[in-house]
Amino acid sequence: MRKILHVGLKKEMILDKRHPRYLSLLYREKLIEGYFMGIVAIAGLIAHGRGETFDYLLGEKTHEETIEAIKAGAALLLLAKHPVISVNGNFAILAGKEIIELSKILNAKIEVNLFYRSKKRIEKIKRYLLNLGAEEVLGDKDLVEIPTIRSERRRVSKRGIYKADVVLVAIEDGDRTEELIKLGKKVIAIDLNPLSRTARYATITIVDNVTRAMPILLNYVKKLRTMKRSELKEIVKKFNNTTYLKKMEKKIRTSFKIR
Ligand code: ATP
Ligand code: MG
Repeated sequence: MRKILHVGLKKEMILDKRHPRYLSLLYREKLIEGYFMGIVAIAGLIAHGRGETFDYLLGEKTHEETIEAIKAGAALLLLAKHPVISVNGNFAILAGKEIIELSKILNAKIEVNLFYRSKKRIEKIKRYLLNLGAEEVLGDKDLVEIPTIRSERRRVSKRGIYKADVVLVAIEDGDRTEELIKLGKKVIAIDLNPLSRTARYATITIVDNVTRAMPILLNYVKKLRTMKRSELKEIVKKFNNTTYLKKMEKKIRTSFKIR
């Protein structure tokens, strides 16, 4: 791991805790490190920038309405027979620990699924998660193809995404979410952009940064796990994704003014 992230600059000079965007800078540095570790794709760095823009416009906080989406997501995950957490480089770097804890509580599979797929990168992400404490990481063998997914993401594990009834995705491309839905799977997406295709196709979208949403999702899964299935179903039924996305879009359009 690099100690000095930018030539001639010490880490403390870049990461000043008093900086108003300290956390944002910290996550940028983590992703840059992830890139040099071979985990994050260069396009992943750009995708993060798109996310940051929406985060900025959302005030870099988890909104009340989003707590409802997270709660519905937790309920849907608890109802699932074969829940799978789909992981890419950005998601692994930004929420590795939470991904693993969530998989353990839910007995969910973790599967690496990449747009910029290479054997080497899959292996690196897998190693990274195993070192962090994951018991098993799918995505490198026993693969089958979902022919309707055009990108490299069509290669999925027989025991993972292929078999899943509920898939949690984050920082995801719209094409794949659409195809997963067409296959009859339920998709929970964590995506900062309420206008993205992923956000609109998903069964439940959590419009938040994965760094904030994942710890809250974990807490809700822990809180709701003793509930009856009928109560969980009620929570899912009450949540309307389109209504929620419209509210989040409105927030982005109206909450900021230069005074
Ligand atoms: P779509 O393909 O769904 O229409 P897009 O083409 O605009 O979306 P992609 O690059 O395909 O965008 O997907 C990345 C998505 O992840 C973007 O919507 C971006 O806002 C979001 N994103 C980036 N970083 C984060 C993050 N840290 N937490 C949550 N979402 C993020
Ligand atoms: Mg896209």
